[in-house]
Amino acid sequence: QTCRAIQTKPQDKVAHFKGTKGNDGKYTVSLIEGDGIGPEISQSVKDIYKAANVPIKWHSIDVTPVIKDGRTVIPDEAIESITRNYVALKGPLATPIGKGHVSLNLTLRRTFNLFANVRPCKSIQGYKTPYDNVDTVLIRENTEGEYSGIEHVVVDGVVQSIKLITRQACERVLRYAFQYARDVGRTKVRAVHKATIMKMSDGLFLSIAREISKDYPDIEFDAELLDNTCLKVVTDPTPYNDKVLVMPNLYGDILSDMCAGLIGGLGLTPSGNIGDECSIFEAVHGSAPDIAGKGLANPTALLLSSIMMLQHMGLNEHAEKIQTAIFKVLAEGKTITGDLGGKAKTAEYAEAVIKAL
Ligand code: NAD
Repeated sequence: QTCRAIQTKPQDKVAHFKGTKGNDGKYTVSLIEGDGIGPEISQSVKDIYKAANVPIKWHSIDVTPVIKDGRTVIPDEAIESITRNYVALKGPLATPIGKGHVSLNLTLRRTFNLFANVRPCKSIQGYKTPYDNVDTVLIRENTEGEYSGIEHVVVDGVVQSIKLITRQACERVLRYAFQYARDVGRTKVRAVHKATIMKMSDGLFLSIAREISKDYPDIEFDAELLDNTCLKVVTDPTPYNDKVLVMPNLYGDILSDMCAGLIGGLGLTPSGNIGDECSIFEAVHGSAPDIAGKGLANPTALLLSSIMMLQHMGLNEHAEKIQTAIFKVLAEGKTITGDLGGKAKTAEYAEAVIKAL
C-alpha cells in the first residue's frame, strides 16, 4: 500500500504509507484527541467516519507527558501506537507558556522526525473572505532553523539564539516539495527565503533548492524574498494558485498563518506533518480554551486534516466523499458554527455533514 500526495486532487505517490489493513479490512489509526475542544471535534470526525463507512479503526492514545529517568517524555504506549500504525490524527494540545514541560507538539515532531509540514490553503466556497480564489500550498521545513532550541546567555542582557540549517534537512524538505508538486499536478515550486541577509543559512537552503530543481525539469522553479511574498500574497493571491511554496521553518510558521487568514482563519485550515516512517495530521488551531466543553467548536479544520490523512493512506474515494459533503454544508451556510457566523453546535454541523454524504 503506497501513500498519496496530500492535496485535493491526489494523483501519484510521494512517499510510502506502510500501514496494512487488519483481518477485518480496516486500518488502525492512532487518535490523539487532545485538550480543550479536542475531544468535541474528534467526536465529529468519528461520527462522520462511521456514517461514511471509512475502513478505519481508531486507537485513542493519551500523550500526557510522564516523567521517565528524570525527563518529561511522551508515554511509550503512545509512541508505540503511532510507530505501529504509521499514521495519527491529532487534536490540539495546550502548551504551557514559559516553564513547565516542553511543547508536546515539538516533541512529537522530533520523535517521529516529521520533516515537512504541509499546509494547503484553499478558499471555501460560500464563505466570504476578501479573496474567494485562494488555492496555494505551503511546505515548511519542520525540524530546524530558529526552532532548534539552541539559545544561551552571552553576558547579562545579551542572549543568542542560533538558527541551524543543515544540508540534510534542506534536501529532504525540498525534494519532498518538488515531488509533491509533481504528484498533485502543480507546475511550479517557489523557494521563499531571506538569503540577502541570512547569506549562509538561507543561502544554503536556496542553493540546495536550485540543485534539486535540476532533478525536476518538468517543474518550474523560482525563488522569492519572504518580505516580497508577504506583500504580494495579501495584495493578490492569484499568482500563487498554481504553486507550491517551500521555506525554512520560522518563515513557514508565519506565512502559513497569514495565508490561513486569507481563507477565513485557523478554524478552516488543515495540515500534515510528514515523516519518512510516520505522519501526523492535525488542525492548525489550538485548544480554544475559551469555548471548550460548550459544543461550539468548528470541527472543519480537523476534518480537512483527516481528509489529507485519507489521501495519504490512498483512501481517496472516502476522502472525496467526505470533503464534498463538508463543502456542501459550508456553501449552503445554514448549519455552520459560530466562528463562521452561524448558530450551529458542533454536533449539529457534524449531523448536517452526515446527511450530505
Ligand atoms: P487557539 O487556536 O486555541 O484559539 C484562538 C481563537 O480561535 C480562540 O478565540 C478560539 O476560540 C478560536 N478557535 C480556535 N479553534 C477553533 C475552532 N475549531 N472552532 C471555533 N473557534 C476556534 O489559540 P490560543 O488560544 O492561542 O491557544 C490555546 C492553546 O492551544 C495554547 O495552549 C496553545 O499553546 C495551544 N496550541 C496548540 C496547537 C497545536 O496543538 N497544534 C496549535 C496552536 C496552539
